[in-house]
Parts: sequence; structure tokens; C-alpha cells
Amino acid sequence: MSVEALIEQHGPSRELRDQARGLQDAAVALRRSLHQHPEIGNDLPVTRDQVLEALDGLPLDVTLHKTTSGIAALLTGDKPGPTVLLRGDMDALAMPEDTGLDFASKNANMMHACGHDTHTSMLVQAAHLLSDRKGDIPGRVLFMFQPGEEGHHGARHMIDEGLLDLPKNVDGSDSPLTGAFALHITSTLPVGMAGIRGGAIMASSDQLEIRVKGAGGHASAPHLTSDPIPVACEIVQALQSMVTRRIDAFDPAIVTVARINAGTTYNVIPETASIEGTIRAMSAKTRSKVHELISQVAMGIAAAHGLSAEVEIHLGYPVTVNDPTFAGFSTEVATSILGDKKVVQLPNPVMAAEDFSYVLERLPGSIMFLGGTPSGQNPATAAPNHSNRVMFDEDAMEVGVSLYAAMALRHLGVRLS
Ligand SMILES: [Zn+2]
Ligand SMILES: [Zn+2]
Repeated sequence: MSVEALIEQHGPSRELRDQARGLQDAAVALRRSLHQHPEIGNDLPVTRDQVLEALDGLPLDVTLHKTTSGIAALLTGDKPGPTVLLRGDMDALAMPEDTGLDFASKNANMMHACGHDTHTSMLVQAAHLLSDRKGDIPGRVLFMFQPGEEGHHGARHMIDEGLLDLPKNVDGSDSPLTGAFALHITSTLPVGMAGIRGGAIMASSDQLEIRVKGAGGHASAPHLTSDPIPVACEIVQALQSMVTRRIDAFDPAIVTVARINAGTTYNVIPETASIEGTIRAMSAKTRSKVHELISQVAMGIAAAHGLSAEVEIHLGYPVTVNDPTFAGFSTEVATSILGDKKVVQLPNPVMAAEDFSYVLERLPGSIMFLGGTPSGQNPATAAPNHSNRVMFDEDAMEVGVSLYAAMALRHLGVRLS
């Protein structure tokens, strides 16, 4: 569809962009303050206080989560309608910062290197923007400020604590959650662009541990031992054959053994060998099949040699799946705001994982990548997310605030103006 046709359908969004522009100074100030005081995991007291202060005075019903520092803030529009969820994550990474920015992290070994500081600030500004339009909103907006995205299952903890079990409206009418949207900034896409795809957009991520158990002894008399080392090596090789021979090439998986550990010296056969690695998949079906096959391969090979193997799989995040209809909708809304050819349909998913996947298991919705390459840099060579040198162009936040607000409003059926 042409941009003109999309603008015709969704409205020109000029006023919305102007509103977002008016919030840009506040967006930058809050982002920089968050950037200077990064926190890690599910307990983010300083971050939570900053967010609450920035939301102060808005007409929101704020629920402070108890099991984490999560904040659920509900905006009720003046007209009846369903509820839409917008997610922003608030946590940083355990790593040093080497950007040289004058608002660089003040906390040793903590850095907002995934841009969650920008997400938090954008969502706060979106709450301001949408609160201003409360009178026109037919329904409710649930702002989800989550901790612990970087491997700490923050979204799952918030869901377990009742994030999605919303009360009815004050008048007793229903306002069910009907959609969920998230953005993720990336330094490898130019400002003013967005990237999305329907279906799987990010992988599941699980941790693998195999322990091969034999019997140790003298290295000169292996027949009197049950040597776990050649068995562990065979398992590592067989896992790769298993992936290529038994997993559908069009529904791929990755099994990477990243660590092998056995033995203490050159003339002793050890009793055990351990194997550790990561498992990535693009569908729940392949994910569980890989789990099953890993046990089969490891135990089968160990048994063939008279040893045993214990397999432990620590479940990480599920596959992040964008509902195709919602991905199409987000593409249309974003194109009407950003312009022609500015919303890239990603040909492939990303093998990283995201815990917005837990929300998308419960609600239809989508996550979109937001362009944030620092000005003057090449997206192909800019330091990527999670780098100690990653930087983001703060102009991306104005775009992100418009996108958050536009997706919520359009989802609730408001035509933009
Ligand atoms: Zn990250
Ligand atoms: Zn992230």
C-alpha cells in the first residue's frame, strides 16, 4: 500500500509527531539519568524511583509489583473499549562502559548497553502523550515497565504476579487485553527506520548441561576404567549430526557446545566429563524436539560404551512470535509515520532471545526493532547492542514515542490527526 493510502487510512499523524517532539527534551533528560545509574536484574530500586517520579501527576492507576521492581501503570480513556499493552524494559547489563559519553554509567561494571534506558524513557513519554489524549481514548493502555529482561525472566515474574489479570472498568464493564506492543532499539539500523517480521522474530534460548559418568583410573590401563573423555567427544560430534539429520532445515535449531571440561592431568583417566552449551530454536515444536533428541543422543552414546550420561536443560526464553496480523498492522502504522520504504521486513529472525516472548505467548502482538545508529556512523560497522562501546542516536526516541503512541491509539481504533 502506498504511504498516501496508509495516511488516508490511519490519519496523517502530524499532531502526534509534534507531541512527541515536544517531549523530546524530557525523553533525553530521563534517558541520560537512567543511563548514569544502571541497575541489573529484577531489583531496580533507583530506576523504579526515577520512573515513578517521571510519571507523577499523570492520571494512571499504578501498581508496584512486589516480587520484582516492575511497574504496571494503567491509563483509562474517557470512552469504553479494550485494553492495549505497551512494554518497556528497564534493566542494564553486568559489564563496563567504554563509550566516553559525559553521561556514562556511574556504577562500576553496569551499563545500559542494550538501550533499555531509551525504552524506559520512551514509554514514560508515551504515557505523557497518551494521558494528554485521554479524552479521545476508547479503552485503556497498560504501560508495562519490566525489570530483568537480560536473562532474569522479568516479564514472566510480572505475569505470574498478575500483570495481565486486569480489573474490570469502574462501571463493571469489561475491557479485555486485546494486543501488546514492544519496541527494541538497535544501533545497526538507521534512525527513522524500523524492522519487523511476522511469525518468529527472535529465538528461544536454553542452556544445556551434560555430565558423562564413567570410572577413573590409570591412563595406561583404559580397559580397567570407563573413560568419559572419548564418549563426551562422540556426544559433541553426534549433537551436530543430530541437528542436521533430524531437524527440519526450514525450522532450524542451533546446538552449540561452548565448554567441555574433563580431567586434571596427563596420566589419569577422570571419572566424569561435562559438556555445556546453548540451544536456540525458532518454534516451540523444534525446541522441544531438540531437547528430547539431546537426551536420546547423549544417553544412547554413553550407554553404547557402558557409561551413563545425565542431561539437564535449563529453560531460558521461549521463541518470540509476532502475530502476523499484528506485524502487518505495526508495519502499516509505522509506515504511515516514518514514510515509504522506512519499515524493513526482516528476511530472517534474530538468534538472540527476548522475554517479551512470555507476553506474546498470552496475547497477540508484535515487537519491532527501532533504528538508532549514532549520527555519522555506518549501521554496518557501528558498535552493536551489548558492546561496551554501543551508542544510540537519541533522535530515535522521538520516533519511538510516536510509534508506541500510534500503535496503542490505532489498535484502539483512534484515527490519527
Ligand atoms: Zn540485550
Ligand atoms: Zn534488550
